[in-house]
Amino acid sequence: NIQVLLANRPQGWVQESDFLFTETVLPSLMEGEVLIKHLYLSLDPYMRGTMNDAKSYARKVELGQVMRGGTIGVVEATKHPDFQENDLVSGYFGWQQYSIFNGQDVLGRNVRKISPKDGIAPSVYLGALGMPGVTAWIGLQTIGQPKAGETVVVSAASGAVGSVAGQLAKIQGCRVVGIAGGKTKCDYVINELGFDSCVDYKAGHLAEDLARATPEGVDIYFENVGGEILETVSQRLNPFARIPLCGLISQYNEISPQGFHNFGALLTLRAKIQGFNVQDANTNLWQEAINELEQLLLTRKLKYRESIVDGIEQAPKAFIGMLKGKNFGKQLVKLT
Ligand code: NDP
Repeated sequence: NIQVLLANRPQGWVQESDFLFTETVLPSLMEGEVLIKHLYLSLDPYMRGTMNDAKSYARKVELGQVMRGGTIGVVEATKHPDFQENDLVSGYFGWQQYSIFNGQDVLGRNVRKISPKDGIAPSVYLGALGMPGVTAWIGLQTIGQPKAGETVVVSAASGAVGSVAGQLAKIQGCRVVGIAGGKTKCDYVINELGFDSCVDYKAGHLAEDLARATPEGVDIYFENVGGEILETVSQRLNPFARIPLCGLISQYNEISPQGFHNFGALLTLRAKIQGFNVQDANTNLWQEAINELEQLLLTRKLKYRESIVDGIEQAPKAFIGMLKGKNFGKQLVKLT
């Protein structure tokens, strides 16, 4: 069983040398245990926070421990009454090829059995129908509360969370503007995901381009990025705007993260900014979100894209690449 351990706590940007590969022999199964062979590992921005010795929205990983991560896998052997061979299961089992569990994952959560509907690929349950999709749904519906005709801006728009948030807002009748890095991603956001417009923040005139794309101001800003982009969008807010604060990926590798400065706009406009963590939502809300997203996917109203690398050896490089925007859609590692 090849595992990836946390070797160092990075100062600033993560390096491949912050990870260590090791191989262990799996013990034989005890009564009540299940052996899963992982099919896919999900690579997510929150993992950067787990590498720090500081409080973040994700609990830290200890040095020498297996990196935390969501996986989808198949039951290979079982001595647990609730699991059968070949069951498909999803849980937080970390950066490794196999795991043994007794009903709960490393977060102490019940492991979810997955029954993919109508040929949906299992990997999708780590993306649009998994944690990132649920994050988009919860942030948009509970904090954003979109109304038809409103303007919604979504940053990291081509990514796992942003792509779902924007498509949901569009389905609810909003005018949706994405922000993404580069023309290829922006073209995808408009032509494939159906956003009304997309601003390429790397083109060098973000404020002007955003102003052009949001002639009636911004009612909801689904925030994934932070830094300059948050500052710039905050100049376009309308009265009573809502900002679901989902993530600040531009700041995760900064030794001195940039704060938010435009509090004056929030006060003047009676706007709301609210952080949230998808893990706070209860099982019923997760299920409600997944059911709705599954229906939208089956009726082709929800699209997604994946960036898949092959083999656990690729995980550190792909993770660092994702933090730099080299991924295009949900970043996954195929393990078998
Ligand atoms: P993505 O699939 O969107 O991948 C990350 C993307 O972030 C990159 O592709 C890149 O897109 C963009 N990015 C990276 N650096 C910068 C930068 N300096 N400026 C602007 N954009 C940048 O990841 P996810 O969809 O998984 O996550 C998106 C956000 O959601 C993250 O902030 C994450 O922490 C947050 N999140 C929060 C959760 C919660 O419960 N609050 C749960 C899950 C995710 P581009 O090429 O366009 O720059």
